[in-house]
Amino acid sequence: MPGGDGLLSFDLHPDDKGPKDACGVFGVWAPREEVAKLTYFGLYALQHRGQESAGIAVSNGRQILVYKDMGLVSQVFDETILESLTGHLAIGHCRYSTTGASVWENAQPTFRSIGSGSVALGHNGNLTNSGDLLELVAKRSAEIDRAESPGDKGATNDTDLITRLLATYPDLSLLDAAAEVFPELRGAFSLVFMDENTLYAGRDPQGIRPLVIGELADGGWVVASEKAALDIVGATFLRDVAPGEIVALDGDGIRSRRFAVERQKGCLFEFVYLSRPDARISGRSVHESRVEVGRRLARDFPVEADLVIPVPESATPAAIGYAEASGIPYGHGLVKNSYVGRTFIQPSQTLRQLGIRLKYNPLREVIEGKRLVMVDDSIVRGNTQRALVRMLRDAGASEVHVRIASPPVKWPCFYGIDFASPSELIAAEQSVEEICASIGADSLGFISLEELTEASEVPADRLCRACFDGSYPVEVPDSARLGKYQLEVVAPGR
Ligand code: SF4
Repeated sequence: MPGGDGLLSFDLHPDDKGPKDACGVFGVWAPREEVAKLTYFGLYALQHRGQESAGIAVSNGRQILVYKDMGLVSQVFDETILESLTGHLAIGHCRYSTTGASVWENAQPTFRSIGSGSVALGHNGNLTNSGDLLELVAKRSAEIDRAESPGDKGATNDTDLITRLLATYPDLSLLDAAAEVFPELRGAFSLVFMDENTLYAGRDPQGIRPLVIGELADGGWVVASEKAALDIVGATFLRDVAPGEIVALDGDGIRSRRFAVERQKGCLFEFVYLSRPDARISGRSVHESRVEVGRRLARDFPVEADLVIPVPESATPAAIGYAEASGIPYGHGLVKNSYVGRTFIQPSQTLRQLGIRLKYNPLREVIEGKRLVMVDDSIVRGNTQRALVRMLRDAGASEVHVRIASPPVKWPCFYGIDFASPSELIAAEQSVEEICASIGADSLGFISLEELTEASEVPADRLCRACFDGSYPVEVPDSARLGKYQLEVVAPGR
């Protein structure tokens, strides 16, 4: 039953919008475990990747049951609901919308009947050819001369299109159907999906979003967006799902199928902000890469100062690196109200006017009279940094030097990250000097793209860096530039 009440909001302050992730996915096959509870905890570890809705699909070998709703994982599920989701196999999803509105119908996992069974599917990433896929669904349905199987009515996201396409191969196994459908998809997709008996995972040929496989000690398989979700359920990391690979996991072990040649272009922004610091991407520790960026920032943009402070939490490793390399003491000058940005309660006008103060509070006793280096992970619109610089000065800072652990974000992402619209990206129009003046800092330094790439230890030709350099590794047709409501535009009322 839809749970939206029209009051849901993540934007406590309309001008305070940073990059938004595009979802976390988790799957587990484990006959000896309470799989819905493992999935719940896996999603908990991935909550930072999507906070609009959450869902779990579970199979007992005979049928798949899906439970999903708007809200955080802890708001959607309680003990009673999880106890009712019994089976040996489950997948889970937490969503931030990039194609399709943030409504119950677009929450995941998506579900369809397929032949004599069914499929449930969760997706991290964003497809760039949704318009073509919509036509392909109609064509395939006509070819097999069969009305579409029942599924999620009213869904307008790219993920539902994948599920609908899979359902147009009712005579194939789900693995064979996926091998037919996935080559038709363009853009970013890290998928977990399931039928009544087997857990599957698949990743686009570029491997833009991460996806890892783990093994449970008592027998069982886990797939997740990040390694932290394996750790939280006690699974041992085995390997990444390779770009262009589909894996099937069940009592017969792991089976692998290639549907495309690997052309790795992993998202560089995962290193900057999206992934948790305890993630490993292409074998590289995200925490280590962020600390190294901080060291390089200190070398490239030195300044005489008394204290290095991070904008918590994602900039903390880079601030540690800056302090280490510069010899300037590290400290905490900003306290983050970790949960307020994820409330579902619409703030009153009085609270909205407080803006950034709802999220951060300065530690006056640490800041007063000091020359500060404030390290942040990225600048999107510049409003957050402008407010923070003002807040630090109001709290008594004598100087505020801003160092940014990523290059200027100049182009939008079409592969699953929702930045501000292109016209709102401050670096798209302004030089570093102009941005420095705009945010009111004493000095400003961005890590270069080359330095950030080196710190990731991934070769440049195996990375997507499009939001920094405008070079998109997967073609972006005009239809994809319609934005997240493109399927509402293409098929209004569907
Ligand atoms: S455009 Fe930026 S955020 Fe999007 S996939 Fe490429 S590097 Fe990542």
